[in-house]
Amino acid sequence: MTNYPKWLVCLVLFAAAAGAQTAGTPGSPTFIPPRESAVPGGVVNVRLPGALDEKPVVRFQDRPVLVVRDAGGWLAIVGIPLDTEPGAHKIAVQQPGSSPRDVEFKVAPKAYRTQALKVAPGQVNLSPEDEARVGREQEKMRAVFESFSPDPPATLRMDSPVSGPRSSSFGLRRVFNGESRNPHSGMDIAAPTGTPIKAPLAGRVVDTGNYFFNGGNVIIDHGQGVLTMYCHLSKIGVEMGQELKKGDVLGLVGATGRVTGPHLHWSVKLNVATVDPALFLAPPVKKKPAGQKPPEKSKTG
Ligand code: ZN
Repeated sequence: MTNYPKWLVCLVLFAAAAGAQTAGTPGSPTFIPPRESAVPGGVVNVRLPGALDEKPVVRFQDRPVLVVRDAGGWLAIVGIPLDTEPGAHKIAVQQPGSSPRDVEFKVAPKAYRTQALKVAPGQVNLSPEDEARVGREQEKMRAVFESFSPDPPATLRMDSPVSGPRSSSFGLRRVFNGESRNPHSGMDIAAPTGTPIKAPLAGRVVDTGNYFFNGGNVIIDHGQGVLTMYCHLSKIGVEMGQELKKGDVLGLVGATGRVTGPHLHWSVKLNVATVDPALFLAPPVKKKPAGQKPPEKSKTG
C-alpha cells in the first residue's frame, strides 16, 4: 500500500476531534495511574510527601522518574526493568530546598514463561552487515528512549492502539533455535494488515524508521519518560515532531521486520524500563474462555 485511502483521512480528522474533547490537564484530578504490579517489567506508584506547590525530583537507578500530581498529591510512577532482582529497591526523592532521601519499595519475583522457536538460520545468525545495521538502529532507539521531556502526561490510562486479540506474552523468554534472546518487550495485538493504529494517549512523534527487527516503526513521547513504540507497520502515517492527540491514527498494521504474520507489537517505556502495556489499559471486564490461545507471532526483541 503506497497511499492512504480517502476514508482513512476522514477517520484521522474524526479521531482528532474526539481526542480534543477528552484531553485532561497535567496535575488534574482526572489523572489515572497505571495499575500497580511490583514485579520485574511492572510499575510501582509511590506516594510522596511534601507540599503541593513544590514538585519533588525523583530518580531510580540514576534515571529521572515521572512525578505527577493527582487528587492525592505527588505520585512517583516507577517502571521496573525486566532484569531487576527481586527484593528491596529505592528511589531517591529530592524535595526542593532539602537533601535527597531514599524511599524504599519491594519488588516481588515473577516467573515469565519460556517459548522455544525455530526460525530461519539467517534470522538468528546475522550477517556482519545486518549486525552492524541492528547495532546502529538499537543505539538510535536507545537515545530516543532516554529522552525525558518536561511536560507530564495528562493521564496514564491508555486506549488499546488497535482492537483485536491481545497476547499476554510480555516478558516471555524466547529461545530461537536453542539460543536465548531478549525477553519479549511488549504486547502483540493480532489485526489484519492495513488496520489503523491509534495513539493511546496524546504525545509527540520522536522517531520513525524502517528497522531490521521492528520493520516500520513509530515512537511517541507522552512526556517525562513515558514513551510508546509501534512495530511492523505496513505504513507510517506520521512525521517526526508531529503532535498527536489521543486517538489519532499513526500508521497501519503490517508484517514488516522480523515477524511471521501481521500484528501490532506495542511497547511501553517508563524511565527507560520496558514495562507491561496491559497495566495502562482499563482492567479487563470479562475473562476469555479457557483454552483460547493468544497470538504469539512476534519475534521482536
Ligand atoms: Zn511482539
